[in-house]
Formats: sequence, structure tokens, C-alpha cells
Amino acid sequence: MVRPTSIDPKVARSLAHAKPLPFWLDRGDAPEPLPALAGHVTADLAIIGGGFTGLWTALLAKERDPHRDVVILEARTVGWAASGRNGGFCSASLTHGIANGLQRFPEEMPLLEKLGERNLREIGETIRVLGIDCDFELTGELNVATAPWQLDGIEEAADAARAFGQHVEVLDAAAMRRELDSPLLVGGLKITTGNAMLDPGRLAWGLRRACLDAGVRIFEHTPVSSIAAKSGPGATPGLTLTTPYGSMRAGGVVLAAGVFGRSLLRRIGSFVVPVWDYVLMTEPLSPAQLASLGWNGPRGASDMSNQFHYFRLTSDNRMLWGGYDAVYYNGGAIGEEHAQSPATFGRLAAHFFATFPQLEGVSFTHAWGGIIDTCSRFCAFFGTAHGGRLVYAAGYTGLGVGATRFAAQVLLDKLSNDDTERSRLALVRSKPLPFPPEPARSAVIQLTRASIARADTQDGRRDAWLRLLDRIGLGFDS
Ligand SMILES: Cc1cc2nc3c(=O)[nH]c(=O)nc-3n(C[C@H](O)[C@H](O)[C@H](O)COP(=O)(O)OP(=O)(O)OC[C@H]3O[C@@H](n4cnc5c(N)ncnc54)[C@H](O)[C@@H]3O)c2cc1C
Repeated sequence: MVRPTSIDPKVARSLAHAKPLPFWLDRGDAPEPLPALAGHVTADLAIIGGGFTGLWTALLAKERDPHRDVVILEARTVGWAASGRNGGFCSASLTHGIANGLQRFPEEMPLLEKLGERNLREIGETIRVLGIDCDFELTGELNVATAPWQLDGIEEAADAARAFGQHVEVLDAAAMRRELDSPLLVGGLKITTGNAMLDPGRLAWGLRRACLDAGVRIFEHTPVSSIAAKSGPGATPGLTLTTPYGSMRAGGVVLAAGVFGRSLLRRIGSFVVPVWDYVLMTEPLSPAQLASLGWNGPRGASDMSNQFHYFRLTSDNRMLWGGYDAVYYNGGAIGEEHAQSPATFGRLAAHFFATFPQLEGVSFTHAWGGIIDTCSRFCAFFGTAHGGRLVYAAGYTGLGVGATRFAAQVLLDKLSNDDTERSRLALVRSKPLPFPPEPARSAVIQLTRASIARADTQDGRRDAWLRLLDRIGLGFDS
């Protein structure tokens, strides 16, 4: 039975023509898919996954040693998953923000912030040198408060950021509304360093082109179904990867498949959970609509609720509006059918018009969802398997656009056993607390989501459950 929906008719109309696709990948000039792997091939380095982690690893591996034979095996097409579906905020932070970093790696934070700044700078340089047209712009961002309780501790947060060299201003309601006009804004932070905005689809396709130009072989529609080490006398060192029409033998393997990696290496599944995050994209705003926003400050923003929205303008003046619902489907479902969630799209659209009533009548052209590989410490972790021949990274928890390039350097260090300032980091050597197995996992996550939502309606007050999780360092975020 189709249930009647309570969605406001105006909100429903705004969504009526939204294509169920990520805007960033819905382009007439999308690259033609590359052929799948057929037969048996060998390489020095095989990378499983053609998202940002895999692409950066391939490119940097070639930079370190142009003679290294590098192959990417991608289950679908390059950039198809989170890397082509995100908000395009490219943060310098390697720790999902300063507060999270200070809580987990206080001694390391000066170095982590320095490495993160360098990473962001080098991303910009690489994009420029390779001529990747992905609208990369160092903008900073606005953190907007929509309720007074969100301003508690804001001066301390600003001081902490300044101590790491960030340029931060604390704004009251009037000053914030001069940066961006919404009746809901009561103040916040204007940060003009540490973040770039970019077009993630164009970045993924640009890195793909750069990899091919550097001699990386890329096989698309090539899901790896197993990883095995041949043993016994005469076996050559290395790992064998099985694919639908062939196989590959490589001396080293990088598993860059995010949460999907759990099907190839079970231990990844204890540290990451798939959290679905949803996004809307508007039609291009007219000059009058744009002017009504008075968006003078950094053109990327997020609000300071626990269930937060992120929003930004694109180079053709559309507004991307995402976040809020961070959905874990019981059992950790990852099927593409979850990429469309009308209930969430309706909620997001209603919040959009409440935030920007001056944009009444605007339509959304695209609505999509994607999987965030969430871990309990909110930033990437690393590991090895098969006697060091396989290395992996996962767990970026919604802030991987920039951090994937840092992770790629870590993965290459690990594969060659290099002792670097990166490989010595506690962030690199330690793991997050694991999630409990199902069905306790679903119960714990749904309880946490409900508590987080409740905190937002009760002036940010965290209940006993959230305080317990805070104490043991186990978190849930998108
Ligand atoms: C809706 C949404 C919004 C986000 N917004 C932001 C943001 O604004 N800023 C930010 O920093 N981060 C954001 N993120 C997170 C960011 O997109 C990710 O952290 C980042 O893209 C992770 O890249 P990845 O390469 O590790 O994973 P993915 O991009 O998920 O790539 C993994 C790849 O591995 C492939 N694969 C999986 N299994 C196999 C297999 N067996 N064989 C071969 N290939 C396989 C998949 O097909 C996929 O292409 C967002 C994520 C989502 C979903």
C-alpha cells in the first residue's frame, strides 16, 4: 500500500524534477568506461578501488617511482562512490576538525595540523600543475549557529584554531547575516583558512586522466572478489586477486575500497560502518536569487547542530544542500537502492526553505545519497595484512576529500616499510575502538542517533548515553 505523505506541496513540487543521480557525475562529457580486466596480468602494485584514495595512491606511487608498474581495479567506474557524491569541501584537517584531534591526539596535533596544511597546499599545486579543471578554490568556510546553545564555547574553539595558525573571526547574528543572509542564523565562525571548495566529480576524472598519462593501467567494471597468497615451494612472492574475467598477481596491494573493503578483509568491518548521507542540488540561482542570499563570505558552510547541514555554491551558482540525516540501515546495508530516500529528501528540502525563505520557488535538479565510511574516532585508520603485502586505509567519516591524499602517502610509506614522520604518528599506528557485532551494533547506533537528535532539541544537552560514549571515546558521526 502506498502511504499518503505529509510533505508540504510546495516542498514536494521543488523535488518533482530532481534526477536520482549525483550532480557531479551527471555530465555529458563523462569519460567512456575503460575495459574490464580480461585474462591474467601482473603488476608491481595493484590498487583495489578507484576513489580518491586509490587515485592518489596510484599517482603518488608513479611520482615516487615512474618505473613502478601500477594498476587500479575498480568495481564500477572511477569516482562512482563517495568520491563522486560528496559536498566538495576539501579540508586541511586530518582529524575531522581540531576539537576531535585535540581530544584524541593532543600531543600530535601541531604536527598533524602542519601535515594537513601541507597536504591541502600540495593538492592545490597538483591540480594546477596537471591542469585539472575542478574549480578548486581556497575559500575557508562559515560555521553557522542556528540556536544560541551552539555558541557555547565558541570563543575557545576560535582560540584553539588560531593557536594552529587559522584565521578565524567570531561573528554575532548581525555580522553573520552580512556574510550570508538567513533568518535562522544567530552567529558563528568565519574561517578563511584550511578549506578549499572543489568539484569532486571533475577532480576524480582529472586524477583518472593524470593516472593514465603517468602510465597507470585502470580496469573499470572489475570487482575484485578474493585476495590470496599462493604458498608452497616455488611460489612467487605476492598476492593474487580474482576478478570476473581474469586475475592479477601483484607484489603489493592497496585496498582502497572504503567500507566495501570489509568483503575482502573482514577486520575492516569491525572498525567501519556504512552511514548513508543525502544531498540535494538546486537549479542555477538567478542573479536576483543570488543577491537575496547576500553570500559575501566563504561560499561553503555548515551549521553547528549535532545533526548538521552542509551547503555551498557551485561555479554556476547552484546551491548544494546536504547532511542532517545520517542513516545506518540495520545490518549495515550498502545496496544502491538506499541512494534514494524520498523521506530524507523531503526533510532536507523543507529545511532548505526554512533556512532560505527568500529562495521559495527554487527547484532541485538532483537528489542523491552516498555511503560515508564511519569509524568511532571520525578519522582515517590504517593497517596491513598478508604479511605486509597488503595495506589499507578507511574510516574518513565524511571528511576524506583532502585526507585521502595524505592517506595515500601513508599507504605507500607502509608498503615500502619507510620510517617517516607520517608512519610514526599515533594516528597512523593506532586503530579506532571497534563497533560491537550485529545485532548489538544496530541497536547501539540507532540509540546514539536518537540521543543526538534529542540533544539538538534540548539546547545541546547530552543525555547519559552520549556522555558515556564521550567518556570511552566511542562516537557516531557523518
Ligand atoms: C554524501 C557525501 C558527502 C560527503 N561530503 C564530503 C565533503 O564535503 N568533504 C569531505 O572531505 N568528504 C566528504 N565525504 C566523504 C568523502 O567523499 C570520502 O571520504 C572519500 O571520497 C573516500 O574516498 P575513497 O576513495 O576512500 O572511497 P570511495 O570514493 O568510496 O571509493 C572506493 C572505491 O572502491 C571501489 N570498490 C569497492 N569494492 C571493490 C572491489 N571489491 N573491487 C574493486 N573496486 C572496489 C568502489 O566502487 C569505489 O569506487 C562525503 C561523502 C558522502 C557519501
